[in-house]
Amino acid sequence: MKAHFSLVTVLCMLLVSVSAFSQTIAEPYQVGTWQGFRASAVTFTFDDGCANQFAIAIPMFDEFGFKLTMFTVTSPTWPDLHWDKLQSAAQNGHEIASHSVTHTNFSSLNDSLQTWELKTCKEDIIAQIPGEQCITHAYPYCAGAKKAIMQQFYEAGRVCSGSIVSKSPSDFYGISSIICGDLGSIKTTDNFITRFNSAIKTKGWCVFLLHGIDGDGGYSPLSSTVLRETLEYINANQNDLWIETFGNVVRYIKERNALSVSELSVQDTTITVQVTDTLNDTIFTYPVTIRRPLPAGWAAATVTQNGKPAAYTIIDTDTTDFVQFDAIPDSGDVVITKNGSTGIKDHHGMALPVPALHVYPNPFNPSTIINFQLPAAEHVTLKVYNILGKEVQTLLNGSLPSGDHSITFNATNLESGVYFCKLEAPNLLVSRKMLLLQ
Ligand SMILES: [Zn+2]
Repeated sequence: MKAHFSLVTVLCMLLVSVSAFSQTIAEPYQVGTWQGFRASAVTFTFDDGCANQFAIAIPMFDEFGFKLTMFTVTSPTWPDLHWDKLQSAAQNGHEIASHSVTHTNFSSLNDSLQTWELKTCKEDIIAQIPGEQCITHAYPYCAGAKKAIMQQFYEAGRVCSGSIVSKSPSDFYGISSIICGDLGSIKTTDNFITRFNSAIKTKGWCVFLLHGIDGDGGYSPLSSTVLRETLEYINANQNDLWIETFGNVVRYIKERNALSVSELSVQDTTITVQVTDTLNDTIFTYPVTIRRPLPAGWAAATVTQNGKPAAYTIIDTDTTDFVQFDAIPDSGDVVITKNGSTGIKDHHGMALPVPALHVYPNPFNPSTIINFQLPAAEHVTLKVYNILGKEVQTLLNGSLPSGDHSITFNATNLESGVYFCKLEAPNLLVSRKMLLLQ
């Protein structure tokens, strides 16, 4: 009887774990725990609209190209509500999300008032911010709302319990954040770095909560110097740290855990892949990073989804070369095309030459030549990074015509070691490993 009971228990546990994870990924594909197969995710959330969030934080994040989340109180009587500033932040890709209408403590509200706060705040934001779906909410005073009500309007809710979030949270309506500033546990750049390192070890997600910055009068102010040093650290460690908004990290996790990747066909020069999920396609449109070893005999490849160029890169590891790409679930077939073939078509149906990036000689000392092809005239950047992901040299930053290009990389002043050159254009991302032997 006892043995029977424990078998039932085990079966129940299996069922629970299966339902939490419905990923089906065909061999030999791999899905990144985080975008770009990075080791951890980092999100900066800002509450209440304190003055220096607009005057200092948003311009600083824009300088780095990083995105943040503004948890916004939407009552017209809220003194720090500035729709014009929020609209321009949203245009730069920042998330504008809900922090309720009246910033009241939900533990004292009945169900209908909780519903009104959550529903109205979302409606206010959608009405004011073009393109914003408002899928996340931060509880005022960190006091959670009823989950059944939250589920009607939001994909996730943020609390303030001070821990790093698991890569697959058990409760999306209780996502922990870490309070920064004078009254929080994060006051210095080293405090941030310590949390990054723990997140990297566990493949977790750091969500930081900020209010005031410097002397703007906001709660628990953080120094803008610390904020800048921390963003510089993230910028130099982008191989490990993925910085994104709260809502987009939620999208990524839910898509990743509901993802199906299957190979529809393998031919001499093309592989067709289907990437789907079981989620609502109007909300879950964030690209998920997937990779596959290059087939034998393929030096490189290019990737399209639904006939349009996808972001991709060729990754050299010691044992395997991968083609790694970003695909939006349920947005059309992904086609991986062997480099040098002519299978790619642009959206007018014209055949495009395949972008390639070659480095020769490699290993090199002290200079080498980087050759690449552009399928079309593009604004491109070609930069060299060290193994820590820190940019060491910009070789190109400007518009180039289509066709073949070559540029010499002189590494006289650099130390021996592994470097990466990365060619980026709006629809193109190719990187190559280079070995400098001084
Ligand atoms: Zn607040």
